[in-house]
Amino acid sequence: MTSLASGPATDPLGPAGAHLAAATARPAVQQPEWPDPQRAAAVRRALALMPPLVTAQEVQGLQSLLAGVARGEALVVHGGDCAETFDGNTREHLAGNLETLDAVADVLGGAATPVVRIARMAGQYAKPRSNPVDAAGLPVYRGDIVNSATGTRAARAADPQRMLRAYADAASVLDRMRTGPHEVFAGHEALLLDYESALVRRSGAGWFGGSGHFLWIGERTRHADGAHVALLGLVDNPVGIKLGPGATPAEVLSYLRQLDPCRIPGRVSLIVRMGAERVAERLPPILAAVAATGHPVVWLSDPLHANTETTGSGLKTRRLSRVLAEVRSYAAAHRAVGTHPGGLHLELTGDDVAECVGGAIAPGDLGERYLTACDPRLNRAQAVEVAAAAAHEFA
Ligand code: PEP
Ligand code: MN
Repeated sequence: MTSLASGPATDPLGPAGAHLAAATARPAVQQPEWPDPQRAAAVRRALALMPPLVTAQEVQGLQSLLAGVARGEALVVHGGDCAETFDGNTREHLAGNLETLDAVADVLGGAATPVVRIARMAGQYAKPRSNPVDAAGLPVYRGDIVNSATGTRAARAADPQRMLRAYADAASVLDRMRTGPHEVFAGHEALLLDYESALVRRSGAGWFGGSGHFLWIGERTRHADGAHVALLGLVDNPVGIKLGPGATPAEVLSYLRQLDPCRIPGRVSLIVRMGAERVAERLPPILAAVAATGHPVVWLSDPLHANTETTGSGLKTRRLSRVLAEVRSYAAAHRAVGTHPGGLHLELTGDDVAECVGGAIAPGDLGERYLTACDPRLNRAQAVEVAAAAAHEFA
């Protein structure tokens, strides 16, 4: 990226500080308006002095595993809540989500194919939103790292202290993950620039994002000249970018030039979320354009985000039939172009929820067990059904 002079001597990141400042000075959407910017700056400074939540060695370990996925030797699953909450940081919830992620990985890989596991966990606290206000006219909930879901004006005010709570919760979640039976990595959407940029750390000659192993850019913040792409261009973590139905081959090639100039296998994951009806038409030209460049990317299907609908009673839901249809069309596009389908990115939970429709959950069941803080998640049986279909389609 751009080469800049060193930052001031007091900058804890040294030259990284100047690069970070240049990246985050680019246009950025979906950022909170902190009522007191000086308090936000004080929190940023505090975070910049704290230890990274993940180590450069762990990040490098994941990078090596994803290189195997890019070469077609393995698969990958990302899975977890749409929005983690501070209240959800319980042993039961975390264990249930991790067990569900394992079940999905085991079914997807079968006996023969290794599956890399990345939990949407230990940092998935910031949410991009379609509207700045909710149905009641209050500032919208932007995730526990920004404000509270409680529907009062005071609760919805953006509070920078929440970034410190998110850091502490992420640390404790990672502690639990590290005691589990599998090597599971943590990933989240690198949305909140104040938090993400404050946790960038040195590693050798470069820098890494210390907030999680895998960081991705969402559909709403993937502007090729924007701050999010620039920030993830600075760090050595494996990174992802969501591709909605409007993504063009030219845009995707611009991301790859910025994020993967050295063509490192598995450095970039392209996460396709185009919708059951549109993926067959929109994806093949992008697959072909990327294949022609030779960038060794990981492809993933997120078959949930473009298949969201709202019920008559105002609940967001997803129909399993459309989710499965997107997985099938996604796999068919890869077969046609000759690319490796890579894996799945799912919103799922081990909790006994009724949020998505299909399998044992009928539309009339959405009610008491609708518990998500943001988007509807697959329950365990539904997630395993998607994994089984993908295993069949990707084989
Ligand atoms: C998400 O993963 O929760 C999300 C907001 O996805 P997208 O950026 O694809 O809409
Ligand atoms: Mn979501």
